Amino acid sequence: MERFDPDQVAVRSAHFIGGQFIEGSSEDSANAMDVRRPSDGRVYAGLPVADADMVDRAVQDAWRAFKTSDWARCAPRDRARILRRWADLIEADAHYLARLEAIGSTRPAKDALSWDVPFTAEGIRFFAEWADKIGGDVAPTRSDHLGMTIAEPYGVIAAIAPWNLPLVMASWKVAPALAAGNAVVLKPSEMTPFSVLRLAELAIEAGMPKGIFNIVQGDGRVTGDALCRHSRIAKVTFTGSTTTGAAIMAACAQNGTKSVTLELGGKSPQVVFADVPDLEKTVRTVARAITLNAGQVCVAGSRLIVQRAVADQFVERLAAIFSELRAGSTWEPDSTMSPIISLREMERIDGVVRRAVAAGGRLAAGGGRIATGNEGAFYQPTILAGIDAGMEAVKTEIFGPVITVQVFDGEDEALALADHPDYGLAAGVHTADIGRALRMARGIEAGTVWINRYGRTSDFVIPTGGYKRSGIGKDLGRQAYEANLRYKSVLVDFMQES
Ligand code: NAD
Repeated sequence: MERFDPDQVAVRSAHFIGGQFIEGSSEDSANAMDVRRPSDGRVYAGLPVADADMVDRAVQDAWRAFKTSDWARCAPRDRARILRRWADLIEADAHYLARLEAIGSTRPAKDALSWDVPFTAEGIRFFAEWADKIGGDVAPTRSDHLGMTIAEPYGVIAAIAPWNLPLVMASWKVAPALAAGNAVVLKPSEMTPFSVLRLAELAIEAGMPKGIFNIVQGDGRVTGDALCRHSRIAKVTFTGSTTTGAAIMAACAQNGTKSVTLELGGKSPQVVFADVPDLEKTVRTVARAITLNAGQVCVAGSRLIVQRAVADQFVERLAAIFSELRAGSTWEPDSTMSPIISLREMERIDGVVRRAVAAGGRLAAGGGRIATGNEGAFYQPTILAGIDAGMEAVKTEIFGPVITVQVFDGEDEALALADHPDYGLAAGVHTADIGRALRMARGIEAGTVWINRYGRTSDFVIPTGGYKRSGIGKDLGRQAYEANLRYKSVLVDFMQES
């Protein structure tokens, strides 16, 4: 994608309820929050913040649409057809969607065009394919009874999304819920609220009944909390930090009780054994796993655990690759390093790095802000060496382009270092020895283990989700679809004599 002027991209700021854009009701609530562009720090729009009344309006509309429209009752293939048409419209609008995504987030426009938008559309198609695949079971009861479990949608599902991959993360929540016949109220992150509005508009164009897919704008404390506590919300599907996940779970327990899917934080290891056949390829894999989206990826490979024989050489090459990255606005085609979402987040990241250095860590690369002459928040890709397992930089999720280095001698030590006491989202193992790779994969407590690669492919069938404090339940795969269904047991006595 060519360079473009971010000021020329049309931005609509509103809620989307009952198939319509709803602006904030007063001058105050219409522009209750400033929304900034991470690339240059400029305020480019105001955001309405939905209070409990606005949330109630959205949820009641969704409930009405669930009860009165054909969405849940139609032949599932008809629902799937609308979802596929929606995906086609999203792809047809890719240039606008990619620009909109880029200006307000950390996603480079060229990546949004080649990956985020098509991946969003294809994810919708993937879940559409499940719409007529899971109906329930016949149970092996005694022969004069017929026992069934019937899969049914929940009703209205609340989806709460983070800012790091706004379109993709929202679609992972929304698409399986809709495909299963539910109505959805989505709250995007207040930092990246606009691109999903275009998705909602296109859903109506595709033929989705009004009120089935709604969006409320606002922060977590007011809008997100009101959504989780609403009595008509049957389930909350959330992606975000572990702290927020716990707050949501508590709100759902106090006001329901409601089912939850929680995709939370991570601190994922990349374990490199000295026998890797192509060290350069492995260094590039490790580098990409922590610099993609400036490390603001839940599965970022933020802990390098490397065997002593290759450790120095590995860190040296990693630093060299980091130095090749060019920070730049998301609308500049030759940028290869994304901004941090906000100055505040950048300062938090820098604080962890400074404290690590003060505690004895050594900077093998980076360790500070990249000056851009404006309010854009860019951070140097950073390597923290000389780190031990007890330090804050190894224990907490940094969510930035910062990798810690720990050195090991034997396999047992590698496994002990790889296992994080709290998080268990993902892990990478690099070795030529398949037996060792599988022992590590079995041993590491994480929801995903990649061997001789790092990161997802475009296969939607492989579920993703965390062990331990990294979450409950799965996104993607059959599991994500099934999590949007509940099961009713029906028992028929058909031989009863009067
Ligand atoms: P966050 O938890 O701060 O916010 C996520 C969403 O929750 C936002 O929409 C926010 O407004 C809302 N929210 C905040 N407080 C709330 C409350 N009390 N009630 C209801 N909603 C509330 O997370 P973030 O900073 O937007 O995203 C980064 C985090 O997301 C990282 O921890 C990252 O690891 C995690 N993440 C996880 C996955 C995964 O699949 N496991 C994927 C992407 C991001």
